[in-house]
Amino acid sequence: MNSTVDYFNIGELLGEEYLLIRDTIRDFVRSEILPTIDQKAQDHEEIPGLMKKLGSIGALGPFVPNVYGGAGLDYMAYGVIMQELEAGDSAIRSAASVQSSLVMYPIYTFGSEEQKSKYLPMLASGDWIGAFGLTEPNHGSDPSSMETRLVKDGDGYRLHGAKTWITNAPICDLAVVWAKDEEGKVRGVIVERADVGFSTPEIKDKWSLRASRTGELVFDNIYIPSERLLPEVSSMRGPLSCLNSARYGISWGVIGAAIDCYQVALQYALERTQFGKPIAAYQLQQKKLAEMITEITKAQLLSWRLGVLKNENKATPQQISMAKRNNVNMALQVARESRQILGAMGIVGDYPIMRHMMNLESVITYEGTHDVHLLITGQDITGISGF
Ligand SMILES: Cc1cc2nc3c(=O)[nH]c(=O)nc-3n(C[C@H](O)[C@H](O)[C@H](O)COP(=O)(O)OP(=O)(O)OC[C@H]3O[C@@H](n4cnc5c(N)ncnc54)[C@H](O)[C@@H]3O)c2cc1C
Repeated sequence: MNSTVDYFNIGELLGEEYLLIRDTIRDFVRSEILPTIDQKAQDHEEIPGLMKKLGSIGALGPFVPNVYGGAGLDYMAYGVIMQELEAGDSAIRSAASVQSSLVMYPIYTFGSEEQKSKYLPMLASGDWIGAFGLTEPNHGSDPSSMETRLVKDGDGYRLHGAKTWITNAPICDLAVVWAKDEEGKVRGVIVERADVGFSTPEIKDKWSLRASRTGELVFDNIYIPSERLLPEVSSMRGPLSCLNSARYGISWGVIGAAIDCYQVALQYALERTQFGKPIAAYQLQQKKLAEMITEITKAQLLSWRLGVLKNENKATPQQISMAKRNNVNMALQVARESRQILGAMGIVGDYPIMRHMMNLESVITYEGTHDVHLLITGQDITGISGF
């Protein structure tokens, strides 16, 4: 990972405070992630103590106020942090995204004062690892058809069902789980590791996000005390608002992965000689590199503007969909083109490109697929649902 790509002086739009945050996270990635990430991905293992390390630099729930253990920063800072983490690996950004946007955000936004005081500090420090359970075996893009059920039982509830494809499921201490109650309303509950009837089988042998653990959340009639129900939401607005926060972060994060690929490819093209000239001298390679930096720059401007809107609480879910879709696709194309520039060397772990490329194949699917985000834009501009 080298210096930054800032063709349109976007650093000036960001300002000193955010550049300082960027450099701090970048130094962390250089010292704590890059030395081992390739081997960890090859071995299909997470970086030991990752969550506590992320907690120590304020990367978990950066937008949560200090009083609950968060860093008390804004959404622009959150975006910048995600960008730098994903320049290291999408698995690292995923860990921070899930903990921040999908676990801390709903507890902060929809939780009781007791829930916030109890859980948020442990999650912000990384002492506890959280998971977010929305996707089910039969319901991915259509989560409102979920089958997981929450049924009243005395003073509490019984939770029954299963979630799948859940980031950090095998190592989570708690999970924010979305289920339908007896009236068919979507409710959020906090499930703890020690709950009787809770298990988290791992999904093994992924070719993508190999430095991140993924699994199922299985609820075998778990008893949930009423104080673990999130009191302030009872509809799909709950999980969807979490996804808005996470998707915003992804729109920034993938720019980091794209920049890393671009910089490696540019350097390689300048150094690699074929037919007596550096391959960077050939127009075909220049076209690839020029288009990459153009697309990276457009994505940077999109995310910066989205950050301004998000801080003003004006970013619409549809704008976030457009940015997530565009930027992930951009990063995946940059990774694919970069890999070609490196020829055979593009497939080995000495370079990060193939790892980024494989990771991005998940990022383009999770948090709403590439197709689903297009349908959201289509519906917004025509007024007609294409789902
Ligand atoms: C590594 C990884 C980590 C994940 N982590 C989490 C997590 O922490 N928590 C969580 O809840 N989920 C998580 N997910 C799940 C992820 O959000 C889902 O995979 C995603 O929402 C898509 O659902 P699906 O895989 O069931 O695909 P499906 O919904 O079955 O879609 C299959 C294909 O059909 C297309 N399609 C679906 N509906 C339509 C339509 N109406 N029109 C046109 N095309 C359509 C899709 O675009 C896709 O190409 C994770 C997934 C991965 C891969």
